[in-house]
Amino acid sequence: MSRKPIFAANWKMNKGPSATEDFVKAFNSKLAANPGCDIVIAPPFVSLPKLVDALQASGKNPLGVQVAAQNCSQFDPGAYTGEVNVLMLRECLVHYVILGHSERRSIYGETDAVINAKMKKALEANLKPIFCIGETLAEREGGNLESVLRTQVTEGLKDLSEKDLAECVIAYEPVWAIGTGVTATTEQAQEAHAFVRSLIAELYGQDAANRIRIQYGGSVKPGNAAELMACPDIDGALIGGAALEPQSFIEIIEKGTLS
Ligand code: PEP
Repeated sequence: MSRKPIFAANWKMNKGPSATEDFVKAFNSKLAANPGCDIVIAPPFVSLPKLVDALQASGKNPLGVQVAAQNCSQFDPGAYTGEVNVLMLRECLVHYVILGHSERRSIYGETDAVINAKMKKALEANLKPIFCIGETLAEREGGNLESVLRTQVTEGLKDLSEKDLAECVIAYEPVWAIGTGVTATTEQAQEAHAFVRSLIAELYGQDAANRIRIQYGGSVKPGNAAELMACPDIDGALIGGAALEPQSFIEIIEKGTLS
């Protein structure tokens, strides 16, 4: 089954509105055409409206770039100081939301249950979750890779229907590879992706498993994108540091799509 690759830039806590606008101008002028993939950019909340405006300004979004938030609240509007709800994201024309990122899990203490609640809230609002999972180095070295992924997948997707799943993208991001410059080998990445796909087959059946897109994340750069994306179960990338510069994000997209 051929799955359309999806490349998503996770800018984390970088780029306010003016840097966002500069990025879009440079990105649109350097990438001549979309090479046949989904392209997503996830700026900080405050830069979402500017990203949408800048994409529309440049000839009605010729590259079809889609907009993601990096997080959302699991709650309905109300007394939750500092939070952003899914209706606000919809109003800002957001399509995707990154959930379960390892930084949210480790720094902000998000549990599988919280992530599951956010997944449900996002889906209720027709936002597409980019659902992140991945093991720490200690978990991998302790022989717990599969049990960690199994728990994250089972608990994170708990009570989601097959229709819900069809709206989701999974991002496998080994925690030890995020922002470290250390990338999983193609064998390690492919093995983990195949395992995650087999978990989806167990939970939702083989058709759903064949359809779901599983991105790799963790120090993806222009130099390693082609070989990672050539793996049969890797369907794109979630990119942090290397997506802060238009040129390196473009090179990853081009090398990853053509592989
Ligand atoms: C990420 O933040 O999801 C990520 C993969 O970061 P980096 O590409 O910098 O490792």
